[in-house]
Amino acid sequence: MQPPFAAEFLVLPLETAAATTAAGKTKAMTKLRIALVGAAGRMGQAIASVAASENAEIVAKLDLGDRITSAEADVLIDFSSAAATEAVCDAAVKSSAALVIGTTGHSANEKQAIETAAQKIPVVFASNFSIGVNALFSLTEQAAKILGENFDLEILETHHRLKKDAPSGTAKTLAEILQRARNTEKLRHGREGMIGEREKSEIGIHSVRGGDVVGDHTVIFAGQGERVELTHRASSRETFARGALRAAQWVIEKSPGLYDMRDVLGLSS
Ligand code: NAD
Repeated sequence: MQPPFAAEFLVLPLETAAATTAAGKTKAMTKLRIALVGAAGRMGQAIASVAASENAEIVAKLDLGDRITSAEADVLIDFSSAAATEAVCDAAVKSSAALVIGTTGHSANEKQAIETAAQKIPVVFASNFSIGVNALFSLTEQAAKILGENFDLEILETHHRLKKDAPSGTAKTLAEILQRARNTEKLRHGREGMIGEREKSEIGIHSVRGGDVVGDHTVIFAGQGERVELTHRASSRETFARGALRAAQWVIEKSPGLYDMRDVLGLSS
């Protein structure tokens, strides 16, 4: 199969003095240098289109068929497929580059590869890089505490028809927040047939696919005589792209470890 385009390496001179990052890499003080995996995809193109305005440049554009390498980059940003994750982690560790992973839909083994890499390099792994969704995560946690056990919990996510994984990574993060709040493991993925009454402890999680929806997430807290719904709607991929670039600027200064967007935004408790 032909790759969508050949690997592109633009090794650019540093424009000003250099500083040494926690990962031991030399970092240009003016521009962040990025190796981008999934560069031909929707998110890859969104990141490339805003990089210059965020004081960053893409020094390697990588996609299917290319050897994954972080070349001369300070940070490797991955928005491709979970199948690429092990190669992405190996490449970043090999060159002591920092790593930002936006790809979703990982298996347990693929997640383990990320955790292993994070012992050696700083990694931001986030199911959603928008500030609004990270506010939704915090509000969901608070609402679950305030509303208590008598409210039934359901998560609804809607995405464009081309999305490959379900439920979305963001919906899974919302589910984890609710599972912790309720101390339950029980998820109900959709409903069909004579399934009986809803169990009090279950958390419903439902995926809608269609059209070009960038990404909607709603958390429903349904009680007796009232209902609270928290909704985030993304109307542009630019919000994820700018968030990923902000994470990349932040992570190159960090010690090895696994971070998420709440760490980047200073929201983690
Ligand atoms: P897309 O299908 O438009 O793009 C993916 C790109 O990755 C394609 O160009 C594809 O050729 C390439 N690719 C696939 N496998 C590869 C491999 N093994 N090696 C190198 N390149 C490979 O998808 P998208 O909408 O850009 O989303 C990409 C990923 O990012 C998905 O997992 C999606 O769920 C996730 N995503 C995350 C966020 C977030 O904020 N964390 C936001 C949007 C999308």
